[in-house]
Amino acid sequence: MQTFQYSKAQTIEKALAAADAGRFIAGGTTLVDLMKLTVEQPKALVDINALPLAKIERLPTGGLRIGALVRNSDLAWNADVQRDYAVLSQALLSGASPQLRNMATTGGNLLQRARCAYFREPTAGTPGGYACNKRTPGTGCAALDGHNRTHAILGVSDHCIATHPSDMCVAMAALEAVIHVEGPKGKRTIPFADFHKLPGDTPNIENALEPGELVTYVDLPKLPEGARSVYLKLRDRASYEFALASAAVVAQVADGHIRSVRVAMGGVGTKPWRSHEAEAALNGKPANAANFRAAAEAALAGAHPRTENSFKVELAKRCLVRTLKLATA
Ligand code: SF4
Repeated sequence: MQTFQYSKAQTIEKALAAADAGRFIAGGTTLVDLMKLTVEQPKALVDINALPLAKIERLPTGGLRIGALVRNSDLAWNADVQRDYAVLSQALLSGASPQLRNMATTGGNLLQRARCAYFREPTAGTPGGYACNKRTPGTGCAALDGHNRTHAILGVSDHCIATHPSDMCVAMAALEAVIHVEGPKGKRTIPFADFHKLPGDTPNIENALEPGELVTYVDLPKLPEGARSVYLKLRDRASYEFALASAAVVAQVADGHIRSVRVAMGGVGTKPWRSHEAEAALNGKPANAANFRAAAEAALAGAHPRTENSFKVELAKRCLVRTLKLATA
C-alpha cells in the first residue's frame, strides 16, 4: 500500500477545508479495498465519521432525510424506512454482508465503484496491464470482448460496460431521492437521476460531484397514498453477492388498475437504471401478467448484450415481472 496522510474532521467546514488534500473516508468499505489494490492512491484521507450527519429525520413534507453517515444497517432496520420505504430496506438487506452493512454509509454506498475484474486489477490501464478506460482514459476496455458475464446490458458504450453495483441506489432511483451536497461553492441538490453518469466516452467520470464536494444528506419524498414498494434481487448465490438482475418497483393500484408506478433496475445498467419505458407501458393499465410482460419487454428493448451476458436480458425481464406482481398483489 502507498503511504498517505490521515486527519479527522470534526465539522463540515473543516472537512471541506481539508478536501483539497485528498479523499473523504467514512466506512471505507469501498475505498480501503481499492487502496489495497492500488486502484485508488490518495495522498491524504480526511476521516468524516465525526460529522453530525448520522441521523434519520422526518421532513415537514412527510418525507425522510437520511444523513450521509447513516450506516446501511441502521437505515435498513429503521422503523420509518421499513414501514414507508420497504423497497429501500429490502435493497439494503440484500447487499453485501451484515459486517459490511454495519460499516458502510449512505453516502459511501452512492459512490460505490465498478466491480469489473479488469478495473480492479492492480496494473489495469498501465502498459502491459489490462485495457481499462475507467482507470486510464484512452487505453480501451478489456471487458468488451473478454469476461463480461456480470457486465451491463443497458446504458453501455464502446468505452465501458461496467455494471453499477449498488442495490441501495436502485431503490433510491425508484423513490426519486434527492441528494444534498456541500462544497467550496456552497450547497446544492442533485436529483437522483442526474447523480450517476452514463459511461459515454468518459467512463472515468462516474457522478455529478464537483471537486471537493461532500454528500451530506439524501431526501426521500413522501410516496403517493397507498403506494407499495418491493425490491427483488437475483444473483449467483443467496448472500454476499452482487445482482445479476434486480428490480425496484413503487406502485399505486386502485380497482385493479395501476394508478402510478416507478420502475428501476439493477445488475443490468451502467448506472442505477430507471425505466420510464416500463412505466409508460404500465400506467393506467390493468395490473395483470400480460401488462407486466409488456413492461418488461419495453424495459429491455434497448439492451446491448455482449458475448457472455445475453442471459441477463431474459433474466431481467422475469425479475421485473415478478417484482411487479409482488408490488401490485
Ligand atoms: Fe474498465 Fe469499464 Fe472496461 Fe471494466 S468495463 S475494463 S471498468 S472500461
